[in-house]
Amino acid sequence: MPAPIRRRRLLLGGAASVLAMQAVGLHARSADDGAVAWPRSSQVPGGIARLSLGPAAERPRASEAGVPLLVLGDAIEWTALVGIPLSAVPGERRIDVRGGNAAAPRQLAYSVSPKKYTEQRLKVPPRTVDLSPADQARYERERTHLATVMATFTEAAPPASLQMQVPVPGRRSSSFGLRRIFNGQARNPHSGMDIAAGTGTPVLAPLPGKVIDTGDYFFNGNTVWLDHGGGLLSMYCHLSAIDVRPGDALRTGERLGAVGATGRVTGPHLHWSVMLNRAMVDPALFIEA
Ligand SMILES: [Zn+2]
Repeated sequence: MPAPIRRRRLLLGGAASVLAMQAVGLHARSADDGAVAWPRSSQVPGGIARLSLGPAAERPRASEAGVPLLVLGDAIEWTALVGIPLSAVPGERRIDVRGGNAAAPRQLAYSVSPKKYTEQRLKVPPRTVDLSPADQARYERERTHLATVMATFTEAAPPASLQMQVPVPGRRSSSFGLRRIFNGQARNPHSGMDIAAGTGTPVLAPLPGKVIDTGDYFFNGNTVWLDHGGGLLSMYCHLSAIDVRPGDALRTGERLGAVGATGRVTGPHLHWSVMLNRAMVDPALFIEA
């Protein structure tokens, strides 16, 4: 287990991390002042806001635009973890909080700073960019199915620590957020981390989790989804083998499959995504730098 990192106050002092408590006019503070905190906060599109909800005997409930949020902590201090979508427009966003010590529902505002992700130009087989009608229909069926997978929210308490183990050893790219141009056509930004590894390399659960979906998808190839509780999900794509079934409960380090090159890829690697409240966030925030 790596040594914990003590976060420094100065990282949290900017306007981006100032949190205003709207209803009561208090100046709230970032939740992780001076404490060991995983995931790390990064209030940018594709990042995570850690918002203090203060002390309360019972766990408060928090949501953003109706989507429930992961709330961690104890009676001394509760913290909402908010995944910020890559598509978020920089500026102020709000979460809704119910329960805790406040009698009435309240809103908390937080700010999102801009982040410029670099552009990546890729050449791939034309049929994987300009889909045939049959492939388009398949992709749309899969998208509908995956939307239900991504909406998974289980009340089960998340693991005590959300620091993740890297799912495969290998060279980790900093490719999260890249604005991708496939064969000259702009597509969705890259919403995960690519890890270079040979076909057959075991892929290991980075945290305890329950398998909620497996399948062979048009773009993602052989894929496994894990549910870690509280709307924290993770996805493993392009696998050469899937070794688990929906319903399986995995411990940290347990094998879920093997690296491959299935789906739309240019070579074998693991594509790893982490999702919080239905927003794909940078997996690097969960692992030791
Ligand atoms: Zn990828």
